Amino acid sequence: MKTMEVKVGNVIIGGDNPIVVQTMCNTHTSDVEASVAQCIRLAKAGAQMIRLTVPSLAQIEDLRAIRNRLRDKGIEVPLMADVHFSSEIAIAAASVVEKVRINPGNFHKDHEKAKEQFKKLVEVCKENGTAIRIGLNHGSLGDRITNLYGNTPLAMKEAVMEWLKMCVENDFYNVVVSLKASNTFVMVEAYRLLAKEMEESGVVFPLHLGVTEAGNGDGGRIKSAVGISALLSEGIGNTIRVSLTEDPENEIPVAQYLADRYDHKIHSSMVSLTLEGKKAIATYDAPTRERLLLDFSCDFGKRLLDKELDEVELIGCEDAEYLVDELMQAARRKFYRPEYIACPGCGRTMYNLEGTFEEVKRRTAHLKGMVIAVMGCIVNGPGEMADADWGYVGEGNGKVSIYKGKSPVLRHVPETEAIDRLLELIEKAED
Ligand code: SF4
Repeated sequence: MKTMEVKVGNVIIGGDNPIVVQTMCNTHTSDVEASVAQCIRLAKAGAQMIRLTVPSLAQIEDLRAIRNRLRDKGIEVPLMADVHFSSEIAIAAASVVEKVRINPGNFHKDHEKAKEQFKKLVEVCKENGTAIRIGLNHGSLGDRITNLYGNTPLAMKEAVMEWLKMCVENDFYNVVVSLKASNTFVMVEAYRLLAKEMEESGVVFPLHLGVTEAGNGDGGRIKSAVGISALLSEGIGNTIRVSLTEDPENEIPVAQYLADRYDHKIHSSMVSLTLEGKKAIATYDAPTRERLLLDFSCDFGKRLLDKELDEVELIGCEDAEYLVDELMQAARRKFYRPEYIACPGCGRTMYNLEGTFEEVKRRTAHLKGMVIAVMGCIVNGPGEMADADWGYVGEGNGKVSIYKGKSPVLRHVPETEAIDRLLELIEKAED
């Protein structure tokens, strides 16, 4: 899909340009030293754009300091401010960094006021050459939209179209759009609907792709590869972020693989493929296990998601059965373990997210089919965990809230007890 070009500092997204790889710091933005060090590592690893959270106006000066320190060192990687729940922060950040991500679901409570504030944001962006990402997430659709369209891919597309129309009304086109979801089916459908509508309208903004809260390890990689590759293989998507609940440096090789594959710089290592009705049997000659896992996810994820295939078999690989199970789960065709939703963490995270997520996975592994979320902060976590049956949400100060569906059932639980309490609640509810 041919899109407009968007300039973000020294990087161009869209048009005929290669797919841009981006990531996000998980340092506290107020810790300028640590954030600068992480940005340097991420840029060296291949990140072409880096996002930092800006939770309050107080962090605007930290953001400026990080940017200045990087530029003084000759590191020109464009920076992006990630802003939620405050249009004022977005407006302030727009004169400091190259791009501002806003979430339509929480830009401003009042829709009319949101339009006014967006106009102000656009003015600052025009003055400074700043880009905007309209970054909608499935979990944070506002009530006004869900009352009209339900909690659906259509609702996501409609919500974002309202904002794109506002961009056009304000004659502002330096805009990238995302419609992320943790559910690969919802994510792929939402982007497809949006791509179709933009093409029909003749105003085609570049798309930022990602499977949000994908988790970690093999599962996070496979889920991200399934969702992102399904769209890139259709020519949809101009910049990508693979969100893993790990060190963000680990995201880069996965994202780079996807960018290279769909920029036609590399090919699958599959050496044989047999089709028996709706079953595929494949063998690979991959140089590494990670490469095998990604090749396999991209070769078959979309076909499973779209129900062109019902089954896959992997021949000649030690953990073939496990990889097939993971792929089937990522494509939402078979749930052989719980479905985990875990945010990647960012400057808002106030506890050991990676360690806690691993422990939650270890202790809930038997709860096949249940959706369990582990979220880094109480500000965005509850809104972002979409369809989770249970949620473990960090409050800060060593405390945790436990959610059942969208409602908190226990608050201020000490971190040391929180997994036990979560397990007790699940067991009681299952009785
Ligand atoms: S939910 Fe996670 S990634 Fe999102 S803002 Fe909170 S800590 Fe950051």
